[in-house]
This record gives sequence, structure tokens and C-alpha cells, in this order.
Amino acid sequence: MADNTLYEILGVTRGASDSEIKKSYHKLAKEYHPDKNADHGDKFKEISFAYEVLSTPEKRETYDRYGLQGLKEGGGGGGGFPGDMFGDIFGGLFGGMGGGFGGMGGPFGGMGGMGGRRRGPRRGEDTFHQLRVTLEDLYNGKTSKLQLKKTVICKKCHGQGGKAGAMQTCQSCRGRGVKVTMRQIGPGMMQQLQSVCPSCHGEGETINDKDRCKECKGKKVSDETKILEVHVDKGMKDGQKIPFRGEGDQMPNVEAGDVIIVLEAKEHDTFERKGNDLTCSYTIGLTEALCGFNFTVKQLDGRDLVIKSPPGKVIKPGDVKVVYGEGMPMYRNPYEKGNLFIKFDVKFPENSFAVEGNLKKLEKLLPPRPKIEIPVGEDVEEVNLTDIDPTRGGASNSNAYDEDSDDDNDGQGPRVQCAHQ
Ligand SMILES: [Zn+2]
Ligand SMILES: [Zn+2]
Repeated sequence: MADNTLYEILGVTRGASDSEIKKSYHKLAKEYHPDKNADHGDKFKEISFAYEVLSTPEKRETYDRYGLQGLKEGGGGGGGFPGDMFGDIFGGLFGGMGGGFGGMGGPFGGMGGMGGRRRGPRRGEDTFHQLRVTLEDLYNGKTSKLQLKKTVICKKCHGQGGKAGAMQTCQSCRGRGVKVTMRQIGPGMMQQLQSVCPSCHGEGETINDKDRCKECKGKKVSDETKILEVHVDKGMKDGQKIPFRGEGDQMPNVEAGDVIIVLEAKEHDTFERKGNDLTCSYTIGLTEALCGFNFTVKQLDGRDLVIKSPPGKVIKPGDVKVVYGEGMPMYRNPYEKGNLFIKFDVKFPENSFAVEGNLKKLEKLLPPRPKIEIPVGEDVEEVNLTDIDPTRGGASNSNAYDEDSDDDNDGQGPRVQCAHQ
């Protein structure tokens, strides 16, 4: 069953000559131009599409042989048409005239998908902005005002680019912004070549200089400064995205994309965050390690946390203790908090910190020495134990005793320290 739909749209017969087709198209295009009657938009698109096919010998041949379905499948070989044309025109032609012709937005709308029928206008790109926040901001929550430049539809011409009707569909590409040429690369095999229309630079339309909107100079859009209030909620994380729906750049016939704020947490002097927990390091003296201590840590909300360890409780270098419930508030559940982990280092006294007599007294207080039997005889030799002299070579051997165990030893920056009061 021959498919004559496109011929019928142009009101010509299957055998019509090129000039008959052209004549009929011009007559209909004038009659149904959307500038005359906006309701004619769909009909106009059908007419344009029919002419596009029937005025291109290769396409007409494909259509004559395989019908609309054949065109849709690219003539049994090569590519087809821009996705939106098929999605919309064919959707309309197949599904009864007057179906949804939503998506003829921009000339480049949805070039990708063949067959997938898209409704509604094309969606613009999302715009990403970084917002630097402190750990305090993430702990307490904060509202930041962010000033953004965005493109908005020109208010003077309402995105028309000039006075109504001044914008003309580009004759060269018939408004598509692209030039498509079909090339036969084998029997029944068509290859489609696409390039940006040189007449309208891909805009799909042209305007006389005198008719151009003075405000936007025919660009249809202008720049605007907009202030966004960004609510940084308690417990949000580094890298978390805060979307503002539809606040992206506006363009005619395009649904504006989103502005997406991406949080970037600054490093904190005291704390490091791990999930909902906080960690920090604190160095105590030997006396504190053995005899107990008090110190304070400034919490992110400004409170001074008094950290206590009773006399008799011994803290060893590398010990990690926890304060439950003093970590970060949980996102969307800020009354629940993570925990605060404190890693202790113990600073030993310097050489000669006490005279010999006092050392004897100290020794009496400390746990007794282990009993070590020193053997006697020729094979026993007393040797010198000294500090390492790096100039005497073999200094690298000292590295053998560096514990290469965990995170802090990568030599990058100072260790995180709980602030001393
Ligand atoms: Zn304007
Ligand atoms: Zn053009």
C-alpha cells in the first residue's frame, strides 16, 4: 500500500514534478505561516517537513519506496533525521494529525534519539556553582547569598528577537539550523551528512537589522544578575549538591535547566570529618598521661568541651578515646550527632628534666624495673648507645624504625591538633 501522506500534505500527486511541489509548498507555507495564525504552527511544520522530503531527490526516492517508516529508519541504511523531527512530525503523522508537536524547540533539539518520542520543550543544561563552606557552617547550618549571572528571555521583545513577525525562518535550512545532505553509499544504503547552516549560523532564522530588538540586538536573551539564597543545612557534606530547579539560563523554547550549588568544605584547623564523626589529635605531657588531665576543645558551635581523664587512668601514645554525641549533626536529623574521636600523643620530658636524686624518688613511684641478668665472660662486650648522627652515613637506617603505619605519616601538612586552650 503506497504511502501518499506527504504528497497529500502538499496537495500534489505522486507524480508531481519538482516545480509543482515547490509551487504548492510556497503557496501553503504562506497560507499556514505561524506568524499569520499561531494555531497553524503544527500544519506549517508538516508542510515544511513534507517539502523537505519531497524536494530532496534521495529522500523522495526513499519515501516513495519505503514510505514514512522507511524514512524513519534512514532508508534502510544510514542515519535518519534529527530526532525531534521524527519524534514530533512522525508522531503527529502516524498518530493522527494534531498530536503533540511539543518539541520543535531549538534547531538542535534532541538530535540524538531516533524513534524515541519526546514531548515538551527541550531542557537546557544545568549550571554548577561551587560554594565554599567551613566545617562550622556544616555543623550549625547557614544561609548564603550567592550572586549569579544568568541569561534570561529578553523582556522587551519577549524572546522574539524583534517585533512580531520580523524573525524569518531561514530559507537556506528551512529553520532547522542544519543542512542535511543524503548520499548514497551503496545499494539502498544512504548516508546522511549534517552541518551547521551557514546562512543563519544554526539559529534557524534570520532577521533584518532594522527590525532587531534594540535591547537584545536580536539575540532574544539578555544577561541578568540574580541572588540565590542557599540554605546550607546542618550535617550537609562536602560535595553535596543543592539544586535550584529551573534557575539555569533561559532560552526561547527551551525549558531552563537547574542551577546546582556544590558545597566545598574548607579544611578545619582542629577537626577532620569522617562521615558524621569528628576526629582530632591531642598531645599531652607525660605527667598528664600518668596522673590524669583536664583540657578543653572548642566545639564547632562555640561551646568549650571539657575533656577529663581521672588520675590513675594511663593514656598511652596513640590511644584513641571517644566522646559520644559530639560529632557532626546528621543531615535532616540534626538532633542526632556522630561522635568525637580524640587520638592522643604523649610528649615525654626532655633530657635532664630532673636531678639524679629526684629520679631515684621517681623510680620508687614507678612500676619496678624488669630483672635482667647480664652475662659475664669474654664474649660479653659493652657498647655505646648514642643519638643518631646523620652525617655519619647510614642515617637512612633510622628510617627503618619509622612506623609507616597510618594516615598521618604521609608528610603532607601538619597533623590535626585539638586546639590547646
Ligand atoms: Zn529583545
Ligand atoms: Zn539556516
